[in-house]
Amino acid sequence: MSDLTSALQQVLDGRWAHIKAQSRTLAADTFMPDPDLDQEAHRRRVFEQMHALVAAGHARAAFRPEYGGTNDVGASVTAFEMLAHGDLSLLVKAGVHWGLFGGAVANLGTEVHHRSYLPSIINFSLPGCFAMTETGHGSDVAALATTATFDAETDELVVDTPHPGARKDYIGGAARDGRLAVVFAQLVTGGQRHGVHAVLVPLRDEEGKALPGITIGECGRKAGLAGVDNGRLSFDQVRVPRENLLNRYGDIAPDGTYSSPIENETRRFFTMLGSLVRGRVSVAGAAGAATRTALTIAVRYGLDRRQFTTPGEAAEVTLMDYRTHQRRLLPALATSYALQLAQNDLVEQLHEVQTVLSEPGGVVDEGAQRLLESRAASIKVLATSHATRTIQECREACGGAGYLSENRLPQLKADTDVFTTFEGDNTVLLQLVAKGLLTGYRDSFGALDTVATVRFVARQLAATVVERTALRTLSQRLVDAAPGKDGDLRSRPVQMQLFVDRERHVLEGLARRLRPVARSADPFEGFNNTQDHLLRAARVHVDRVVLESFEAGIDRCEDEDARALLSKVADLHALSIVEADLAWFLAHGRLSPARAKAVIATVNALLAELRPHARSLVDAFGIPPAWLGASIATGIEAERQAAAGTDGSDATTAGTDASAVEESSAALAP
Ligand SMILES: Cc1cc2nc3c(=O)[nH]c(=O)nc-3n(C[C@H](O)[C@H](O)[C@H](O)COP(=O)(O)OP(=O)(O)OC[C@H]3O[C@@H](n4cnc5c(N)ncnc54)[C@H](O)[C@@H]3O)c2cc1C
Repeated sequence: MSDLTSALQQVLDGRWAHIKAQSRTLAADTFMPDPDLDQEAHRRRVFEQMHALVAAGHARAAFRPEYGGTNDVGASVTAFEMLAHGDLSLLVKAGVHWGLFGGAVANLGTEVHHRSYLPSIINFSLPGCFAMTETGHGSDVAALATTATFDAETDELVVDTPHPGARKDYIGGAARDGRLAVVFAQLVTGGQRHGVHAVLVPLRDEEGKALPGITIGECGRKAGLAGVDNGRLSFDQVRVPRENLLNRYGDIAPDGTYSSPIENETRRFFTMLGSLVRGRVSVAGAAGAATRTALTIAVRYGLDRRQFTTPGEAAEVTLMDYRTHQRRLLPALATSYALQLAQNDLVEQLHEVQTVLSEPGGVVDEGAQRLLESRAASIKVLATSHATRTIQECREACGGAGYLSENRLPQLKADTDVFTTFEGDNTVLLQLVAKGLLTGYRDSFGALDTVATVRFVARQLAATVVERTALRTLSQRLVDAAPGKDGDLRSRPVQMQLFVDRERHVLEGLARRLRPVARSADPFEGFNNTQDHLLRAARVHVDRVVLESFEAGIDRCEDEDARALLSKVADLHALSIVEADLAWFLAHGRLSPARAKAVIATVNALLAELRPHARSLVDAFGIPPAWLGASIATGIEAERQAAAGTDGSDATTAGTDASAVEESSAALAP
């Protein structure tokens, strides 16, 4: 690996680089997919691989030392991200068991639950499920219909599925392996409801048979993730001891008296969900890793594959020399850099907040928790939608070869598709992000669609939008340094100014639209009519946040060449976003027609400048060749080197190929 590539990798690897280095030593067969397995064989293999991960100490970082963990939140999420370079079925199985199920026990339970369950969760001797979603309600968790009713006579909770719509659905681990589930249900004591709480419900006996009162079904074949046993659960008056209530945020005394450290029911609900934010951060990281695998495969193929000759030339043209090919892959590559740096910042933020939260009695500053939740939702949306778009583009960029399972891309596409839906549907999450830009909203109302909420949001937004767009220091510093309307488009202050202007304008426009809604007879309709604007407000806000992370990442880079290259990558990322939204910038007078054309020209110039570095840029992702699992990414190169008499084992370093690329593209430089 060249000095430049390793300097880039250092920036991308971030604070938990040592965990990434450790993960890179994982043997491929511990976690790589086998596309030829049928569903049952795949599930069996994933189950065995879970034990291999236990042996490698995989899950320990997520839990406290007294239960066998090391309590390094950042390390845990980083190790999970690295797992996403392998079989995504294993990743999701691990995420459900250790992240969602184990995370719920750790964060919603108290010492008695930790002592009883965490050691066997860490070593996977007690496979678990996280049973939140129901057939009738997914995004609207507050409306779940499963009940957990306290029976004071027997000191038990009675868990029940009152109608078919309340059946738990899509639950990872339910169909085959799960023995204990964290079930989310409406808690009822003395005839009074206290909102959604989590209760531990055993599902199967030692032999794997469903326990009395529990009906377990299969979700059947899915588009991807065949190695995950998603299933359905119904409860017919299933009795569990009162102590099975995960009681950190709400408890029941033996006489049935309910108590909670958080009085407001909505606030309690959001605090409970907020403590589970790690899952969302993990999915964002996993989406980023899978996208980087796809980009590495497609870029390597694009640098190798030749098609058509130009007049007077004997040699065929390398795909990556076509401007369209550069346009398809390089802006996505640039955005992957941006998202990795934004993810690293997010993981640090999560680490700070959850390290405190994991202490017995640990209390987290509310502002920090909310910022974390909003940031996690933002990055999750961006990273997963980027994955879906980019992996499809990579598939097409590899032509027919991209459609073959042996080249990994079809499976990556199928497995990551659902990332936009689980751990929070992206459209719903964006609305949360937009609402998060309002002060005081969440304490008062939980749902999006009640009249009172709509009135409240409208009033709040009108009053607070300007204050809430107050920028973080880095953005402000950049904006202050912006030279004015006609500054160099490659200057970060100029780019930041465009992003910040757009964010302010869109939010203020939203406030203007919502003001009359607060007074209207049908506020829901008015609010509903602004929904697209609401989503746009969130999206442009996230664009600014991610650019900020990119700039901060460049600031931290000490290698001069790497800084210069990163700066170009950031230019391409930022200007591609501006280019995609040129109509808005023109319509709102933020760019003149001449300057809009200059944006397009600058993007094209950047593509030409970055093309010689395409290989170094993907090599800096640091994906071991054996993890690519695509013969088009490694096979052709190995064949060529073997034919040239060189040692095939060196086939994956940037070496000869990169310099050849450098030469062939020299003519393309501006
Ligand atoms: C493979 C897989 C694994 C899963 N694993 C688990 C698991 O282990 N445990 C678990 O509890 N759940 C699990 N889930 C469920 C998952 O979390 C839900 O599918 C997700 O929360 C979305 O809920 P839903 O499917 O009911 O969609 P809905 O909420 O019904 O959404 C359907 C569509 O409506 C749109 N929509 C919804 N509300 C609004 C609104 N207010 N405004 C505008 N548009 C809206 C959404 O954007 C979406 O496009 C899994 C799902 C899958 C597919």
